[in-house]
Amino acid sequence: MSTSPRERVRDACPGVLRTHPAADGALARLRIPGGALDSAAARMVAGCARDVADGAAELTSRGNVQLRGLADGAAAVLATRVRSVGLLPSATHERVRNIVGSPLSGRAGAGVRDIAPLVDELDRGLCADPKLADLPGRMLFAVDDGSGDLAGLPADLALRAQPAGQILLLVAGGADALRLASSAAVPALLAAAQALLDVRAAGGAAAAAWRVAELPAGRDRLLEAAAAAARAAAKTGPGPTGDVLSIVDVGRFGAGVAADVGTGSGPPGARPGRHRQRDGRWALTALVPLGRLRADQLDLLAAIADADGDGRVMVTPWRSVVLRDLDAAAVARGSDRLAAMGLVVDADSGWVGVTSCAGWPGCAKALADVRRDAGRSAGAGSARVRSGTSDGGPRHRRDRLPVHWSGCARRCGQPAGEVVEVVADTIGYRIQRRAGSAALVLWSEGARPGEVSAVDWDVLVDVVAAQRSVARLRRDGREAR
Ligand code: SF4
Repeated sequence: MSTSPRERVRDACPGVLRTHPAADGALARLRIPGGALDSAAARMVAGCARDVADGAAELTSRGNVQLRGLADGAAAVLATRVRSVGLLPSATHERVRNIVGSPLSGRAGAGVRDIAPLVDELDRGLCADPKLADLPGRMLFAVDDGSGDLAGLPADLALRAQPAGQILLLVAGGADALRLASSAAVPALLAAAQALLDVRAAGGAAAAAWRVAELPAGRDRLLEAAAAAARAAAKTGPGPTGDVLSIVDVGRFGAGVAADVGTGSGPPGARPGRHRQRDGRWALTALVPLGRLRADQLDLLAAIADADGDGRVMVTPWRSVVLRDLDAAAVARGSDRLAAMGLVVDADSGWVGVTSCAGWPGCAKALADVRRDAGRSAGAGSARVRSGTSDGGPRHRRDRLPVHWSGCARRCGQPAGEVVEVVADTIGYRIQRRAGSAALVLWSEGARPGEVSAVDWDVLVDVVAAQRSVARLRRDGREAR
């Protein structure tokens, strides 16, 4: 039994073929499995941003991109262009192709293999099974190269490479994982996804679960289905059939190296700047301020990827992009060119750790232009780092907590963990850490939300900096995580 039509209607995740009506026009989301955008596709996205959207591609927390401000009729143009570069291989499955992959795949850290073939196999397998078109659009798959860089993401089903050609299969919230032969990994993952549909279709509270972690019961059925598929694959596959499967305690494999976007720590794909690859070449990570990648910036990235890199712009789930396989001269040249275009390659930038929702004017619920305000605040942070002044605020990225700006109390896109919330409400901005006391910066008298003069900037910047200060957190008797 498949998910009912009524439940599918409630699944409002946008795609290219079904856009979302936002306040500033239609919004379309393009799935980029594994985050791998080849240079031709990158140029196509840049062209669409310029021609039919608002001039930028937004990076999402699942390593996808979205275009907003589409005019009437633009969605059809977009779909044609997206298809032409292979980014829309299935009309029925487009919204379930949410696959994040390790952006430096086997090149740096503890990664043990290139996961690109696994991502391709998973994507093809998803699209080939008509039943899997009914998966919720909020499902997230992760394929980790073994470095653990994706461990901090809320993936529903994940593969993590292990030495000696083995793979771990992890189910969200589960204490056990399957250790599998590599050849069985994708069939097992697809079987687990099918089992999720069966659990939901059985009805009850499970029918309302959009994510695996929301299942009230039945997660063990996902692991059982995966194990059965792995055994079947081992019987028919080319590899050895002995010792193909074991159940292991997830805790044995540690938490990985989850990104901390606030401090700029974590895996290289989340840290702006250049990173040495194992082969002696370089990867270059550029943070995209508030995830808004302008068409001209994307064109430049594609040009550098073509001329000096591996021909791909890797889109990460941390609102950054990575260019790979650059030599020493190319990484220096690329850093300068990207910085000159407004992308962040300096790990001490005030932009590190700053995120926001869409806010006004893109969202009808917004009470403030949070992108503009977050940008002004980040700019002030950068200036302070450069000048060495503090005004009581943090001097260095390691001293700051992440901050998320929201246009209303829904706090869309707010990262998990310790974060300073800046939330617009009807009387001003409320600024607080989770479980901390709130500070309030009122809208200026007579000003309307969204106006440039709506708030006292010096006060707002000072209050946000103080709340982000790890030193202050320690003074308050609580250690930052
Ligand atoms: S947090 Fe509020 S204003 Fe921001 S995108 Fe969500 S609903 Fe809109």
